[in-house]
Amino acid sequence: MMHRDGRADGAQMRATNKQKARLMLEALLLVLLIAAVIVTGVRGTLCPPNSSYEILTSAVTPPKDGPLLTVTLLDVGQGDAILLQSPNGRTMLIDAGPEDAFDAIRAALRVYEIKQLDAVVATHPHADHIGSMADVLKRYPVGAFFTTDVPETTIVYEQMLRALQRNGCPVYNTASGMEIVWDDAVSVKVLNPIAGEPAEDANNASIGLRVCYGSTRFLLAADLESAGERRLLDTYGNDRLRADVLKVGHHGSDTSSCKAFLDAVHPSCAIISDGRNNAYGHPHPDVLNRLQAIGASVYRTDTDGVITLFSDGDTITIVP
Ligand SMILES: [Zn+2]
Repeated sequence: MMHRDGRADGAQMRATNKQKARLMLEALLLVLLIAAVIVTGVRGTLCPPNSSYEILTSAVTPPKDGPLLTVTLLDVGQGDAILLQSPNGRTMLIDAGPEDAFDAIRAALRVYEIKQLDAVVATHPHADHIGSMADVLKRYPVGAFFTTDVPETTIVYEQMLRALQRNGCPVYNTASGMEIVWDDAVSVKVLNPIAGEPAEDANNASIGLRVCYGSTRFLLAADLESAGERRLLDTYGNDRLRADVLKVGHHGSDTSSCKAFLDAVHPSCAIISDGRNNAYGHPHPDVLNRLQAIGASVYRTDTDGVITLFSDGDTITIVP
């Protein structure tokens, strides 16, 4: 009996060990499953519907201490959203990307602990620039809002107008000759639209800005096309258009960045805001060739993601 019992005990023990091993395996699988759900859940909250956006999860480290102008081209896919932070901590948002871009904008504002926007610019009323503007206006106090008087009949435009009313911020129709008074250390001049001269269309009427800090100059060309660029050349001549950094007009479309304009601006750095594998084929190879011909370094949100530029008033550092 003892022997049999002994064998029976041994078999029972082996069975118990097997059960324990299976239980441990099941527990391990359960832990892995929970971990996978948690990771997927976290990812789901960080990413906007278009998962090809790069979402800022931490602030980009500045190259040095001291007062800096920071210009961040957010990655909002096919559209524009540019965040400016002044040396004195003032904030400006130029455009608000397409309709699914709000998560990318909110993430950047959160990372930089920005709770209000001193100035917001809607360069023109197309959906790839004001798509998430209503969300921005609903959730952030805004000091002043700058727009053009080009009306639209789209839903996003009407949503923006309703959100503007609820926000209660002052709204300014913007044209050349104006300066956006934003920070004593930084000059923000409106180059376009040209006051008193009706533009051909919304793109050519879009708000073009020249931002200067110390000796560094940024030209933000919104969706200007060649007609608008030529008008700028006629109005300002070459010298007043020169800049170190050009935010290339209209996402690198071939209808923009004509040779004469690029020759006048002559940027050492050109930045393009466009979506990965966008349906428009932006940026156009001819535009890239024209930029290369003037010796500009090109950065693109579709390949570089979020692009951050720091100016100390003397030099500009780019962190793609
Ligand atoms: Zn656009």
